[in-house]
Amino acid sequence: MSSKIKNLPDSKGFFGQYGGKFVPETLMYALEQLEETYIKLKDDKDFKSQFYSDLSEFVGRPSPLYFAERLTRHYGTGSIWLKREDLNHTGAHKINNTIGQILLAKHMGKKRIIAETGAGQHGVATATVAARLGLECHIYMGAEDVQRQSLNVYRIKLLGAQVHTVNSGSATLKDALNEALRDWVTNVDDTYYIIGSVTGPHPYPMIVRDFNSVVGEELIKQSQEHFKAMPDAIVACVGGGSNAMGVFYPFININQTRLIGVEAGGEGIESGEHAAPLNDGEPGVLHGALSYLMQDDKGQIKETKSVSAGLDYPGVGPEHSWLKDSGRAEYVAVSDKDALRAFHEVSEFEGIIPALETAHAFAHLDTLMKDFDTDSNIVVNVSGRGDKDINTVAEIDGIKF
Ligand SMILES: *Cc1c(COP(=O)(O)O)cnc(C)c1O
Repeated sequence: MSSKIKNLPDSKGFFGQYGGKFVPETLMYALEQLEETYIKLKDDKDFKSQFYSDLSEFVGRPSPLYFAERLTRHYGTGSIWLKREDLNHTGAHKINNTIGQILLAKHMGKKRIIAETGAGQHGVATATVAARLGLECHIYMGAEDVQRQSLNVYRIKLLGAQVHTVNSGSATLKDALNEALRDWVTNVDDTYYIIGSVTGPHPYPMIVRDFNSVVGEELIKQSQEHFKAMPDAIVACVGGGSNAMGVFYPFININQTRLIGVEAGGEGIESGEHAAPLNDGEPGVLHGALSYLMQDDKGQIKETKSVSAGLDYPGVGPEHSWLKDSGRAEYVAVSDKDALRAFHEVSEFEGIIPALETAHAFAHLDTLMKDFDTDSNIVVNVSGRGDKDINTVAEIDGIKF
């Protein structure tokens, strides 16, 4: 990869062959309005200064780039650095995007906010910014996730939002997304839909990427300050792909930095029981965009499996599909078992309990660190903290409270 990669998506919302706007006619106008507003505001001085001041004063940005001394010693091959998105207000990277999108909603005069959520982090992040601006807020969440993420469900309610439990399909994130889209079609005039990942129809993948790119932008500066070079690799977990896209995007034309996305391998790729469309899927349309997807011979969406609610999604953002095909980023998968081992290891080695999603990125270090020598610098994007997952892990470990 020597040539410079041009800026995507194109004017129709495509990243190569991926992306687009596969939605009912009723939503076309809303998407065009959103795109128009975003294009107008994204380089506006006042909008940008509001966005960055909210990130600093409400979220606590910049998040530190932290040297993981004991993990580094454990592998003994290169320095491991942690980009600490877990330290953001509300505990994950999701707030970067919701801070930006609520400003768009406000500009568009929308009074009602809706969102889907898997692990509940996006629901919490959305309810948080809606509370701050005094806007009515509805969160759609699959019944399965309501059960395994009960703490986040209560957090969302405490923040004054209403949680709608979705029982259709596998009762997880994709079903919550379907319901949120249905709500939006019905209430499009007064409602703003805050999508939580780099998924969905154009312009969402672009908007969510751009708001999360603050992570990669900070990392470029912090890498210079801490080790006077660009990272040799950046590792991030991939559900829909927003934390990975946010940290990858500013590095797309920094060719010495390997970009590595880690999908949820569930019971193992060979078993078919996973949530890893980039490793074991094919292109198809889901939730308004063309992207890699887990589907069967008849084109039906397959059931997914992952210990981590935030990665338990059969699709992935279209820009990742393009990055995979172009070879600029690499995508691997790690199993539930390996992610759980990493969850415990990182907690004990570093005093940081990572989200189960993030634990997938850490688990890949076992394979990855063999590629590097002691002069290398590897960055793990710590997408979120693990407090929300403690019940899940305790249950797996056979602990009863
Ligand atoms: C939601 C979530 C993810 C997965 O979503 P992406 O859009 O792939 O980033 C990963 N980690 C945490 C902590 C999350 O809350």
